[in-house]
Amino acid sequence: MQKIILSLAAFLFLAACGSKGNAAAGESASDDTTHIVVGFDADSAYSYVKRQVDFGPRVPNTPSHKACGDWLVAELERHGASVTQQNASLKAFDGTALSARNIFAQYNPDVENRILLLAHWDCRPWADQDPDPAKHKFPVDGANDGASGVGVLLEIARQLKANPPQTGIDILFVDAEDWGTDGDEESWALGTRYFVENPPVKDYFPVSAILLDMVGGKGAKFCREYFSEQAAPRVAQALWGIAASRGYGDIFLNQLGGAITDDHVQLIKHGIPAVDIIEYHPEDNVGFNPNWHTTSDNMEGIDPATLRAVGETVMEYIRSN
Ligand SMILES: [Zn+2]
Repeated sequence: MQKIILSLAAFLFLAACGSKGNAAAGESASDDTTHIVVGFDADSAYSYVKRQVDFGPRVPNTPSHKACGDWLVAELERHGASVTQQNASLKAFDGTALSARNIFAQYNPDVENRILLLAHWDCRPWADQDPDPAKHKFPVDGANDGASGVGVLLEIARQLKANPPQTGIDILFVDAEDWGTDGDEESWALGTRYFVENPPVKDYFPVSAILLDMVGGKGAKFCREYFSEQAAPRVAQALWGIAASRGYGDIFLNQLGGAITDDHVQLIKHGIPAVDIIEYHPEDNVGFNPNWHTTSDNMEGIDPATLRAVGETVMEYIRSN
């Protein structure tokens, strides 16, 4: 994913929305003194992140990618989901034909009221933000950028098997998110673009969607992302309110973050209200985790406490909707 530089007018608009949003979400957070007990094991989520990283970089067209994809399917099936695989040859900006696979897992497929949870499972083929230019052609481990979101969702799948939900829950692992290039918006999120154009279920319109991206970093902060606020302010407010009520207000900062080109934008364009939970530091120039798109995005940068804050928040959201 990458950050979009908005025009000054957009930033002023964003700042105006931000002050309103902060006040409203702050009220709901402080009013809400009860929260649902949810099952979420951060150590299990951590081991799911590590398991992916152990395959090696999950770069499309590599044996590591294929092997990890097979394992993800088996794991979701083991946790009781109905799994559909979408295989597609997707053309990258540089002409490479990517052998991509979206993995779509459903709980209660016959229930109309559905929540979609998603994360990208591919790794960026180039560590082009690495401080050492000699490493710019190396792939990233993607412990945080990719595996963290998938790890949280695999743990949620495990919990859903143990304690089945009332509502319809879909877990989507999208491929080919991170084979993009700076300045070309169309080059990112290829797997999600394919998914919305070729939905595996007819007339697929979940009530809401939550994207998890870079949700395991040490010292992570999550701000309210610009496009999410435009498309799904109530979902964002509910999530940030839950996080605050569970004591995670110092991680889920109730303030506006950047405008991020990520998988959720493709869902929003398709009419699905979607929120991106993504690490973002508003005071920084880049904004993302310092390991973003570097060879340092490995297990050393993963903190189970961050996985827990995100996992519990999302679990409470799906248990209360
Ligand atoms: Zn990335």
